[in-house]
Amino acid sequence: MAQIDALSGRERPVADYLLSFAKTRGLSCHEDDAGSNGNAGNVIITHGDGGKTLFMSHMDTARSTASLKPVLLEDRITSDGQTVLGVDNRAGITILLTAIDKILEQNLNDVCFTVVFTICEESSLAGSNHLSIPANITQGYAFDSAYHPGTYIFKAPGAKYFNVEVQGKASHAGMAPEDGINALKIAAQAIVGLPLGRVDPESTMNIGPFSCTAATNVVPPRVSFSGEIRSATVSKVEEMDTSLQKHLAQSLTNTGATFSYKSDWDFHPYTIEPDAPLRLRLETAIRSVGLEPSGLHSFGGSDVNVLNGKGTPAINLGIGAQNPHSNDEFILIEDLINATKIAMELMQNEF
Ligand SMILES: [Zn+2]
Repeated sequence: MAQIDALSGRERPVADYLLSFAKTRGLSCHEDDAGSNGNAGNVIITHGDGGKTLFMSHMDTARSTASLKPVLLEDRITSDGQTVLGVDNRAGITILLTAIDKILEQNLNDVCFTVVFTICEESSLAGSNHLSIPANITQGYAFDSAYHPGTYIFKAPGAKYFNVEVQGKASHAGMAPEDGINALKIAAQAIVGLPLGRVDPESTMNIGPFSCTAATNVVPPRVSFSGEIRSATVSKVEEMDTSLQKHLAQSLTNTGATFSYKSDWDFHPYTIEPDAPLRLRLETAIRSVGLEPSGLHSFGGSDVNVLNGKGTPAINLGIGAQNPHSNDEFILIEDLINATKIAMELMQNEF
């Protein structure tokens, strides 16, 4: 599974593998049209009437596994150190496919489930955003967290992307600098005044791309930069969004420059309360395989944010895919087995 190369937007080989997996087992499956900008859509496999629960993992890896040489050690699977192993998220796919096979082997024909394999989780969450959740589905479990099985994410932040363009005025930097309005200097002063990094215990702000293309002898007339704000609640993200705009307006007062500001949601925050049925059900499943449940907050966004944003409460489960996106990625065989057992418990025990 890990040796199939499929970066975000290039998931075709994994999608084909999954479609043929379902076909050879007589499971109903289809591919949706989420992949208009890539070469595959989301793959949806169902058993029985599809049940009420959606199980999920993603097909893309953040880095290529084309030259991966998997190494099977006594207690773990690693790469040879030259590439990623692809545990994020081929381990999740492996766990779900193995759980399906075990259920079919045991002739548990009355067990109903829906399993979704998404595209572009690592790049844009385009797959889960595009996904139309079947009407019978009331809850979801994703197998996509680096924590060990037993640990799960019940709370994750929301994030808004923003883009700022500062418009000044060009002039010759040597002959007439006084005639210019230096957009670069004005933008830099505005950025210095921003609380970049950890804003408070549950909020962060970051600027990534920054662009200015003036020649060295031209007072820069135009600058653009983009970033993100993320926090645990919708209202906090909105508050930060508003105060960022206010700060920019104040910084630019009396400079002669103007600015435009655009922001939009990348993903919404979610919190699954301790008494929520899907959280209680998960804790029961974790205990039934001999592990102790432990719920955590995450600072990352994932397909689970999108499911929750669409009104389907969902949780992200630890599968033990360690050191994600590095050449040191590995997974303990014990974790693969425990996560598979949890998946089987959840598939077999619906409300
Ligand atoms: Zn992942």
